[in-house]
Amino acid sequence: MNDWKNYTDKNGDFQLANFLYKSINELMKHSLDMGTLLSDDAHKLRAYKEQTKKLFKNKWLDVASALEHFDIIEKCECYTGQKEVYCDICKGSRYKISSYLSPDEMREVSTFVNAAHDAELQTKLQKGLMKLLEEI
Ligand SMILES: [Zn+2]
Repeated sequence: MNDWKNYTDKNGDFQLANFLYKSINELMKHSLDMGTLLSDDAHKLRAYKEQTKKLFKNKWLDVASALEHFDIIEKCECYTGQKEVYCDICKGSRYKISSYLSPDEMREVSTFVNAAHDAELQTKLQKGLMKLLEEI
């Protein structure tokens, strides 16, 4: 099974791009298997498989470009648009989770967000801001 919890890198960060890519790839494999079951015509089968692979690959790139637009994922170092080589970072998805969404960044962001609910922290930030404005 494609358990999303197993998709973590060596730092324990969730590999969102890899997980989605693998999920779409699994669907593609099922489609290819179905084609094999249903067709005795080798020529048609080859055309069907090529077409199916292309469709799924393009669908992944659609999904990836939407997620990239919202800074949820970003292109992997291996993204060249040329011949594909195996990459240990993204495992073929050509994308990785955005550096904005790394656990360290998230903790930092949540500190700021929570500041609105934390009166003491809010006062501190306000005092800091006032002091800064006085110095200008
Ligand atoms: Zn890569």
